[in-house]
Amino acid sequence: MLGLMQEWPLLCHKLLDHAERQHGSREVVSRSIEGPIVRTTFAEIHHRSLKVAQRLERDGFRLGDRVATLAWNTARHIEAWYAIMGIGAVYHTLNPRLFPEQIAWIMNNAEDKAIFVDLTFAPILEKIAGAVRSLRRVIVLTDHAHMPQTSLANAVAYEEWLAQADGAFTWKTFDENTAAGMCYTSGTTGDPKGVLYSHRSNVLHAMMAAMPDAMGLSTRDVVLPVVPMFHANAWGLGQSGPMIGAKLVMPGCKMDGASIYELLDTEKVTFSAAVPTVWMMLLQYLEETGKKLPYLKKVVIGGASCPRAIIAKFQDNYDVQVVHAWGMTEMSPLGTLCTLKPQHEMRTGEARLDVQGKQGFPPFGVEMKVTDDDGNALPWDGKTFGHLKVRGPAVARAYYGGDGAEQFDADGWFDTGDVAHIDASGYMQITDRAKDVIKSGGEWISTIDLENLAVGHPDVAEAAAIGIPHSKWGERPLLVVVRKPGREPSKGDILTFMSGKVAKWWMPDDVAFVGEIPHTATGKIQKTSLRAQFKDYRLPTD
Ligand code: AMP
Repeated sequence: MLGLMQEWPLLCHKLLDHAERQHGSREVVSRSIEGPIVRTTFAEIHHRSLKVAQRLERDGFRLGDRVATLAWNTARHIEAWYAIMGIGAVYHTLNPRLFPEQIAWIMNNAEDKAIFVDLTFAPILEKIAGAVRSLRRVIVLTDHAHMPQTSLANAVAYEEWLAQADGAFTWKTFDENTAAGMCYTSGTTGDPKGVLYSHRSNVLHAMMAAMPDAMGLSTRDVVLPVVPMFHANAWGLGQSGPMIGAKLVMPGCKMDGASIYELLDTEKVTFSAAVPTVWMMLLQYLEETGKKLPYLKKVVIGGASCPRAIIAKFQDNYDVQVVHAWGMTEMSPLGTLCTLKPQHEMRTGEARLDVQGKQGFPPFGVEMKVTDDDGNALPWDGKTFGHLKVRGPAVARAYYGGDGAEQFDADGWFDTGDVAHIDASGYMQITDRAKDVIKSGGEWISTIDLENLAVGHPDVAEAAAIGIPHSKWGERPLLVVVRKPGREPSKGDILTFMSGKVAKWWMPDDVAFVGEIPHTATGKIQKTSLRAQFKDYRLPTD
């Protein structure tokens, strides 16, 4: 027997309809690429988005067409997203931090037919557009007055193009499993792999993200998504923001401490989300200027492991709650978030940080387990680590084009490539990427634990641990360190600081100082290049 409830497909543009009807006057504030702060509302965005949809259709774009965006977080980018989805086409966010050749490769792989591009990135597109065989239309996200001289074929200024539509358009209706968006993972090895979100997965993910023990959003919140829309959907905030009716503050291209502070302060932001490096810059700015954060209540920190020193500073010095989070492009992206369960609420100081330093537990809609190399489930004891596998309605079941099939098993589990343990309360802690883990005498050493510990030293700006071949142990850890400007900690200072805080046999065999640690386009430490850099390194213990 089937239930007798209505068919109401979970389509992304319904989120924007809801925002317009229920929260139409709620503001969306952007730092525009042209410079000034621009204020609009959900009602206005809804209207303009319908115009963009109408215009896209008039230009011949249809259900299933891939339409790229190469843009910062702004209201215009949101309008474009919903318009693309509203005609049944697929938004494809491109990461501008990739090399131009990689962007061209990704665009060709996805067969992008049109692109919305910010002024900042027009020069990149000029370099590669000729190599993208499918590209027919370029829409530069600006007005006539700011439209640059360009060699791009079929390029138009967004505002001018938009003005040719009146918005008398009805969103298309289709199956909720229709593709809505696309994002390529910046694989450190091999070609990037495409993740293809559906309307259903995006809507369910938006609901999951908003739940109290996930991001915990409310219409009374003022949300600053620093995490870019091109980095895994701005962690869902482009969808959960309109769904909840929170005021959105879009940072454009400026993510330095002073610029972020200015928005936090003038717009009275209550909630924000970004990777640890952004927060390090903000904290440094606050320390230099003595400024405070009277409005900010909560920050979600993820994308890379968040050092406890950052969590402690936010909470102790600025009274801002930190929610450490883990996820990945393949998971739309949220996997786990670290809020406190009732049994932890009474904890204070270091004992509280012991919990908050973990990546947390999943909202309903994400299942997880850790397994050994043979796929056997490991106990949830908070110390046995293994391969972290997940499944759920907003988790990829395949990559676009069928690459990486070995990461998906017959029971629907996706192997994240991360190594983690889970404790008896259900809190997961990432210890490594499977490819980065150090194997010493057959046992695994967590590089993330070593790195987090090292950056707790007041003179260390950044640290990375890598395995160096060792004749007796197979591999031993080398700690690569960037010192803070003007500071000169020695190897002995750092090892003394770490000593007693990790198992003795985890302690790095050596410390190497460098001026810079290489990063990927999503801001993660690029261990492959670091290993290449130190491939001939001999440890003093060998
Ligand atoms: P991306 O798809 O670019 O978001 O990258 C996902 C990967 O980033 C994950 O598989 C993890 O390796 C890493 N990652 C994300 N969040 C965290 C976190 N809080 N702690 C440690 N690693 C993380």
